[in-house]
Amino acid sequence: MAEQFDVVVLGGGPGGYAAALYGGSAGLKVAVVEDQRVGGTCLHRGCVPAKDLLQTAEVLRTVRAAGDFGVMLGDVEPVLDLAVAQARKQGVVDKLTKGVEGLLKARGVTTFSAWGTLADGPNHVVRAGDTEVVGDAVVLATGSYPRALPGLDFDGARILSSEHVLAMEKVPARALVVGGGAIGCEFASMLSDFGSEVTVLEMAPRLLPGADEQVADFLGRMFKRRGITVHTDSRLTSIEGTTELEVGFESPDGPVSLTVDQIIVSIGRGPRTAGMGFEEAGVELLSSGHVRTDGRMETTVPGIYAVGDIVDSPQLAHVGFAEAIVAIGAILGEDPAPVEYERVPWGIYCHPEVAWAGLTEEAATARGHEIVKSVHRFGGNSRALIIGEPEGFVKVIADATDHTVLGVHVIGPWATELVTEGYLAVNWEATTDDIGRLVHAHPTLSELLGESALAVGGRGLHG
Ligand SMILES: Cc1cc2nc3c(=O)[nH]c(=O)nc-3n(C[C@H](O)[C@H](O)[C@H](O)COP(=O)(O)OP(=O)(O)OC[C@H]3O[C@@H](n4cnc5c(N)ncnc54)[C@H](O)[C@@H]3O)c2cc1C
Repeated sequence: MAEQFDVVVLGGGPGGYAAALYGGSAGLKVAVVEDQRVGGTCLHRGCVPAKDLLQTAEVLRTVRAAGDFGVMLGDVEPVLDLAVAQARKQGVVDKLTKGVEGLLKARGVTTFSAWGTLADGPNHVVRAGDTEVVGDAVVLATGSYPRALPGLDFDGARILSSEHVLAMEKVPARALVVGGGAIGCEFASMLSDFGSEVTVLEMAPRLLPGADEQVADFLGRMFKRRGITVHTDSRLTSIEGTTELEVGFESPDGPVSLTVDQIIVSIGRGPRTAGMGFEEAGVELLSSGHVRTDGRMETTVPGIYAVGDIVDSPQLAHVGFAEAIVAIGAILGEDPAPVEYERVPWGIYCHPEVAWAGLTEEAATARGHEIVKSVHRFGGNSRALIIGEPEGFVKVIADATDHTVLGVHVIGPWATELVTEGYLAVNWEATTDDIGRLVHAHPTLSELLGESALAVGGRGLHG
C-alpha cells in the first residue's frame, strides 16, 4: 500500500531535514526516509563531532598556557583522557539529534526509518523498505562518503577516514594527514594539540586550496611554528608495512620517506548517488557522480529535486540548508533565487581559525576587477593581545572603482565568528566605508554587537 505525501525527502542530513522542516513549516505534508538517526554526516560523523573534539584541543591549549596568565598549575601537566572527550562529544551529538527529531515531529514530518530507493522517477515513488512512499515532489539528499586512496581501503586501524578519526580511542604518536583541505587541516591541528607528531601532505601548492593565498600561506607558517610539518606540491608514492607504516612521497625537494603509525585520508568526499535507482529513474548524473540540477535545484526529472553534498556545490551543511530552502520554494510554486555559491561563508576550525566570505584576491583579479585591499593584523588588536593570540589578520578586498566589498578573509582568533560580519558585508554589497568597523570587532558578545551594528547601520530587514 502506497503512502502519499506532498514531499518525500530521501536522506535526513542537513539538506534533507532542512527541506523537511521548511516544507513542514509551509504546511506541506512531508516524509523523510532515513536509514540511520536523522542528522546526517554533519551531526554524527562530521561538523559537530569534529568541532567538539577541536574544542577539547582548545581547552588543552588554554590549560597549557595558563601560566602565561598567572594561573599557576604547579607541576601538573594536563592529560588528555580521550574516553572522556569522546563521551562528552557523544553527549552533544545525542542532544542535538534529539533536537532535530523533536523539530521534525513538531512540524508534523513523518519519518520512515529505512533504506530508500527511487523506485519510479516520473511517478515520484520512493521505496522505503517494504513501504512505497509517493510524493507530489521528491527531494534527494543522500549526502556523501569519504574518498579512499586509490587501491587502499580504509581499515580503521592504520588507514583512517574522518569517521575513524572522530571515533578514535587512542592518539597516534605519529600521524600523516593526506590532504590539506578544510577537514585535513582541522584534523592536523587537533592531533597536534593532542600530542601527535603530525605531517600534512598536500598535492596543491598550498594548504586550503580555494582559500585566499595570503591566508593559506599564513596558515602554513603557523602550522610550521606549531611543529606540524607541511609538504605541499607533494604526492604520495608508496605505503608499506603493517604496524608501522613506511610512507614515500615526491616533494619539490625530491623523494621523501617517513615512518608513521596512522594515515588520515582527507582527500575529499564523493556524492552518494549510486545504487539507489537515481539514474534508472531518469535522474541525470554529472561525470563526477553529482546530480545535475538547475538553479531551482530541480533534477532532469520534473518534480524531483536534489540538495546538499550530492549536488556539485560547496560541501557545507549551510549550503545544504540554503539549497533545501530553494527546492521547497520551487515546490511551493515560488520563484526562489538560486544559491550564490561564491558568497557563502566558509569556516575552518583549525588553530588558527580561518574563515571567509566572497572572492579571494586571486579570483577577484581573475574576474577582471581592479582591486583595493586592506590587511589589518590582529597584532594591533587589543582583544587579541589580551587573549594571547595576536597572530593573524583580517583582509578586505574591494573593487577599486565603486569600493564594493568583494571578499572578506580572516585568519586568527574567532575568525569563524567574525566572518559573519564579512558575510553580511559581501552579501549586502556593502562598500569599504560601511565595514570600517569590521577590523575593530571583538569576540563573543562584542562580536555579535558588530553584526548588530552592521544590521542597524546597513538598515537590514528583519528577514
Ligand atoms: C569531518 C567533517 C567535518 C565537517 N565540518 C563541517 C563544518 O564545520 N561546517 C560545514 O558546513 N560542513 C562541514 N562538513 C560537511 C557537512 O557535514 C556536509 O556538507 C553535510 O553533512 C551535507 O549534508 P547532506 O544532507 O547533503 O548529506 P549528509 O549529511 O551526508 O546526510 C545524508 C543522509 O542521507 C542518509 N541516506 C543516504 N542514502 C540513503 C538511503 N538510500 N536511504 C535512506 N537514507 C539514506 C544518510 O544516512 C545520511 O543521514 C564536515 C564534514 C566532515 C566529514
